[in-house]
Amino acid sequence: EGRWFTVRVAPLGSNGLVLVLAEDLTEMRRVEAIRRDFVANVSHELKTPVGALSLLAETVEGAADDPEAVRRFAARMQMESVRLNNLVQDLMTLSRVQGAEPLSEPRPVALDGVCAESLDRCQIKASAKNIELTIAGEEGLRVRGDEELLTTALRNLVDNAIAYSPENTRVVIMTSTTDDGFVEITVTDQGIGIPESDLERIFERFYRVDPARSRRTGGTGLGLAIVKHVTTKHGGEVTVWSKEGSGSTFTLRLPLLSPPSPQPQSSTASG
Ligand code: ADP
Repeated sequence: EGRWFTVRVAPLGSNGLVLVLAEDLTEMRRVEAIRRDFVANVSHELKTPVGALSLLAETVEGAADDPEAVRRFAARMQMESVRLNNLVQDLMTLSRVQGAEPLSEPRPVALDGVCAESLDRCQIKASAKNIELTIAGEEGLRVRGDEELLTTALRNLVDNAIAYSPENTRVVIMTSTTDDGFVEITVTDQGIGIPESDLERIFERFYRVDPARSRRTGGTGLGLAIVKHVTTKHGGEVTVWSKEGSGSTFTLRLPLLSPPSPQPQSSTASG
């Protein structure tokens, strides 16, 4: 790999002495390479649905006198536009959360609502696979942050839990608190699990254990990257435990917002 430098040489007067400035470009080149990779990945991901759509549009034109075929192609066009829409949506969310700037307007957020809303948004997908979704654990917990982003993050985890699980299984969202002042929200599934060698990479943008499966289930490959950045922005972290063939547990750990402490009673007694 090696390191990269720019070197500038400037004469110091007429006495033959020179000033040598060396600037380490290694980090800059690394960031630039990541950016280029990302743009290449995005272009590739966009090409698939766009290509499919234009092919389908062509085909449907030629099938105008076969209403059944037209219906079939229209349904597939609909599917590809949903995929395109998901990708654009996820890219926009990611660009909102991956920068270093702090949350714009953090507010107290009730986790009961976040859990219920995430579960609601996934209910149709779960029912289609006869997967039972449940919420358990402590109620009334609050954190400080952005409710919509937290809901998106939790929904991504539940979405994945459903997508990577077989029919007739269970997904559980569980909330609890730790002694050191954090909330832990876990999402546990009984799905295919993640090979140990992939565990440390799944939070990278567009990293997928099985790209074909991810696309089949409508995945954009950005879900966990969004989860990671949303959690980091809230002063927390996300971790994963998984065993191939038996399931996975993702844990969001966030600083607990303690309930407003009761105001000390102003004492009227004298003495
Ligand atoms: P995708 O859109 O592909 O699901 P994500 O960023 O959400 O993208 O997840 C990255 C990859 O991590 C997935 O492609 C999948 O291989 C793996 N993964 C995520 N969640 C789970 C899970 N609950 N069970 C098994 N594999 C998972």
